[in-house]
Amino acid sequence: MKKIVSIILAGCLVVGLTACSNRQSEEEQTPDTRDFFAMNTYISLTAYGEQAETALTQAQERVEELEGLWSVTDETSDIYAVNHSEGQPVSVSEDTAELVSFALEMAEETGGVLEPTLYPVLTAWGFTTDEHRVPSQEELARLLESVDYRRISVDENTIRLEPDMMLDLGAVGKGYASDEAAELLREEGITSALLDLGGNIVMIGSRPDGSDWRLGLQNPFDNDMIGVLTASDCAVVTSGNYENNFTGEDGTVYGHIIDPATGYPVNNDLASVTIIADEGKLCDALSTSLFVMGSDGAIDYWRKHPGFEMILITQDRQILLTEGLEEQFALDETHSDMEVQLVAR
Ligand code: ADP
Ligand code: MG
Repeated sequence: MKKIVSIILAGCLVVGLTACSNRQSEEEQTPDTRDFFAMNTYISLTAYGEQAETALTQAQERVEELEGLWSVTDETSDIYAVNHSEGQPVSVSEDTAELVSFALEMAEETGGVLEPTLYPVLTAWGFTTDEHRVPSQEELARLLESVDYRRISVDENTIRLEPDMMLDLGAVGKGYASDEAAELLREEGITSALLDLGGNIVMIGSRPDGSDWRLGLQNPFDNDMIGVLTASDCAVVTSGNYENNFTGEDGTVYGHIIDPATGYPVNNDLASVTIIADEGKLCDALSTSLFVMGSDGAIDYWRKHPGFEMILITQDRQILLTEGLEEQFALDETHSDMEVQLVAR
C-alpha cells in the first residue's frame, strides 16, 4: 500500500483521481501510453492491445482538435469567435454546438447552478489569466447582469450570444473530450484502456487481466489519497476548490468554482465531489454543479436523478457514499479516523 501512496503523491497535486498501478498485471501485458498537455491540464492515455498505438494517436489528435475549438484564448477557436461576436450569430462546428447544447441542458437540469456564461465573472477573479484578485461586490453585481444561460440561442450549428455575454465550457469540455477519445479507441477495437484528462477519468472495459481499475481518491485536505475506488467501464470525475485557488489579502481561500447566484467562489460544507457514471460529460457537469449545491442539495439531486453515484467529502471530514458504491470504495488505512456514511436512495 505504501508504494501506491508514493506513486499517487506525484500525480495527486493537481488531479482528484489517479490510477493506481498494479505491477503484476502490467508485466503480463505492457500498455501503450500517451502523455501530453492540452485543455490546460495534463493528459495521460493508457491502452492495451495491438491497435493501441495507432488508436492513441487518433485519440490525442481528437482531444487536440477539440481544444482548438473550445479554447477561450485561441483566436481561431469557435468559443473565441462566439465570445467576440458582439451579438451576431456565429456558425460553429458540430462538436461545439453539441457541447453548448449539452451545457445548456445541464444548466436547466441543475437550476442554473451549472452556468456556462460565467466567463466575465471568472475573468474578474483572475481565474482565466492567473492574475488573481478579489473583485468588489458592485463589480460582481454588474458582471452578473450578463450571466444567464437562458439568453444563449443555439439553432443547429449557429450560436448567438447577447453582447457582453461570454461562454466558458471549462466545467464540461474535458468530460466531453474524454468520451470522444474513448469512442475512438472503442472504434479501433480497444477493449481495455484508462484515459485521464486532468482527473477526468474514463475507463474502457477492465484491466487486461479482467480485474477492475483502481483509482486513488485525492484527499482534499492534504497531498495524499483518502481511499481507493475500484471500477470498470465507466467514467469518474472529481471537482473541488482545493485544486485551483488563491489566498486573498484577507486570508480567505478563493477557489475556481463559482456560485452563479452570488458571483463568489463556492464556500459551503463540501470539500470535493466525485461523480461516477457511464459518460464523462455527465460526470464533469455534475461534479462541478453538485459541488456548488452543497451536500444537502447534492444528495437531493442524486435522489431525484438516476444514472450516477457519488462520493462527497465534507469540510468536516466526513465521506458520504451513495449506496451503489458500497462495495467499490475502500478507505485507506491511514485515514481510518474519517467517518464513511452510506447515503440511501
Ligand atoms: P476542472 O476543470 O478543474 O477539472 P471543473 O470541471 O469543476 O474543474 O470545472 C471548473 C471550471 O468551470 C472553472 O475553472 C471555470 O472555468 C468553470 N466554472 C466555475 N464555476 C462554474 C459554474 N458554476 N458553472 C459552470 N462553469 C463553472
Ligand atoms: Mg466539471
